[in-house]
Amino acid sequence: MSGTFVGMPAFPKAAHEAVGNTTLRANLRHATHTIRDKRAKAVAELDDWALLREAGKQIKDHTLRHLDTYLVQLEETVTAAGGTVHWAADADEANRIVTHLVKETGECEVVKVKSMATQEIGLNEALEEAGIAAYETDLAELIVQLGHDRPSHILVPAIHRNRGEIRDIFTKEMGEWGRPAPEGLTDTPAELAEAARLHLREKFLRAKVGISGANFMVAETGTLVVVESEGNGRMCLTLPETLISVVGIEKIIPTWRDLEVFLQTLPRSSTAERMNPYTSMWTGTTDTDGPRAFHLVLIDNGRTDTLADEVGRQALRCIRCSACLNVCPVYERAGGHAYGSVYPGPIGAILSPQLRGTASEIDASLPYASSLCGACYEVCPVAIDIPEVLVHLRERVVQGGPATRQGNRVVLKPAKGHAAERAAMRAAGWAFVHPGALRAGQRMASRTRRFHPRTLPGPGRAWSATRDLPQVPAEPFRDWWQRTHGKKESGK
Ligand code: SF4
Repeated sequence: MSGTFVGMPAFPKAAHEAVGNTTLRANLRHATHTIRDKRAKAVAELDDWALLREAGKQIKDHTLRHLDTYLVQLEETVTAAGGTVHWAADADEANRIVTHLVKETGECEVVKVKSMATQEIGLNEALEEAGIAAYETDLAELIVQLGHDRPSHILVPAIHRNRGEIRDIFTKEMGEWGRPAPEGLTDTPAELAEAARLHLREKFLRAKVGISGANFMVAETGTLVVVESEGNGRMCLTLPETLISVVGIEKIIPTWRDLEVFLQTLPRSSTAERMNPYTSMWTGTTDTDGPRAFHLVLIDNGRTDTLADEVGRQALRCIRCSACLNVCPVYERAGGHAYGSVYPGPIGAILSPQLRGTASEIDASLPYASSLCGACYEVCPVAIDIPEVLVHLRERVVQGGPATRQGNRVVLKPAKGHAAERAAMRAAGWAFVHPGALRAGQRMASRTRRFHPRTLPGPGRAWSATRDLPQVPAEPFRDWWQRTHGKKESGK
């Protein structure tokens, strides 16, 4: 994924620093509680929410099972409609393709629709290196870009900023990028929105190239769909002469009928709206309206490896609504930056380690960035069992590194670190398949319980400093069972 977050410290360190920032915590608490309460009311209005949720899950699972078929179908329908499809195995290849396409137009600036996929591959940085300026047009992304900041939320990337901070950023930075902020700008929402509108308008009218992602791609017609709240996306999708859409391969759905489900669940889960304010759909190009050239860049970037994992693949169902972030007690306190990825919160904790592997410190720590309370699963509109995947990924971190394919087999590479934990788990695994040794060990532990330490030595000391070690019983359970029930356990 993107180099933007390379070198981030492990989650516990980054989160420790973030929780000390009281302004950040207040901003996050206010924003997440407001959105989560509104979402709960919007969802409660629908009697068939559970059925919609199940339908969304099944559509996504079906599509992922037949991804190869639907991707080929999509390529055919997009091409038939006048578009060109490009395939990118990873971030570097995707960036090379997009940079080349922009250079071919002779332009040195582009306007962008809010897009997680382009952030994931670090497209803005790649374009900048090639001398191409990429202007974010979503209000929150604009705040992040002008503030030389990183996004901290999927839907509201500047959720960590309050109105006063936004006014200061606009006043200081807008002039460096184009039309300056109006004199005497206050922090009222209407004035801030007007300043952004005026600043962006000249860019929309000048730009010859637009870059977007997509929320969905309909295989049967080759139609791409972007849902957004501001209308800036629609300007980028319709005004420029060339449109380049960079989309993850998992965003495909088979038919228009399937879209019906997600256009009900996504707005309610993300912005608590019954219907999305701006839903833009386009199919290839037309001679009379919209872009004259359309390129679709389909990115893998770790998705087929994720698909190979039977438990972890459910993360690819995600429709990026961010409901799981808004209910997560860990996200609410630590904020999005601590996750070291464009995908923060619970979904980031299961998606980033799968897309990037668990070799780095930050990625190996992400599966532990959760209390496993399960609130994320409860609200997820496509029923991703995030706690299940977190536990699965913890196992991967402890037992071995990232899963990779060798022929038809998924194999685990040895992980860095956690050697003691891995050794302890292997010893436990051995004991559980050797009942005689387990019984002898339990009896020995019961007999020597008076001499057991109250704290763990070495690196385990930090763990036991805030916890009571479990007491070993005076009599092992198996012996108690035999004594009180008078028979041996079966098979022993
Ligand atoms: S995991 Fe579920 S709740 Fe979280 S962003 Fe994705 S779809 Fe929404």
